[in-house]
Amino acid sequence: MINHYYTHPPKLYKRLAKDSQVHSVYQMEKSIVGMCVNTHMSLEDLQTVSDHACRKFKVQLAEIVLVNSPGQPFGWADHKIYLNIAWHGDNLSVLLHELAHWIHDCKDLRGEDHGPLFMRIYIDLLDAYKLMPRACMVVLCETYGVEIYKGEWI
Ligand SMILES: [Zn+2]
Repeated sequence: MINHYYTHPPKLYKRLAKDSQVHSVYQMEKSIVGMCVNTHMSLEDLQTVSDHACRKFKVQLAEIVLVNSPGQPFGWADHKIYLNIAWHGDNLSVLLHELAHWIHDCKDLRGEDHGPLFMRIYIDLLDAYKLMPRACMVVLCETYGVEIYKGEWI
């Protein structure tokens, strides 16, 4: 089932007020049909992907918490990543997006929430977990004016 309402709900907290790429990133995500398919993964499978990704990026593990309330935001706090089923939080694409935030913040990269460093991590995750090949994401980012960090990896 295609989700036509994919969007990003409010987060638990923001580090920087400036988030200059956020709208372009959301627009780009909505254009990728594969990212809008409701995969409805189990909590166990979401946790398995999360643990694997955290080990791959050498950051602390996070406990995945599924909630089901339209009013509750996504976000991460106290080593927990909250995914809201009411906002399609049991989808792999949503998990990878939130994981990219978690990894970015664990590494204390101090970039904008959806800035070039976030995008680099996000694209690494999308490619690694077979949701979207890196080469396609690079072209899409160019199309939507989304900048990706291309320097030495951290
Ligand atoms: Zn985000």
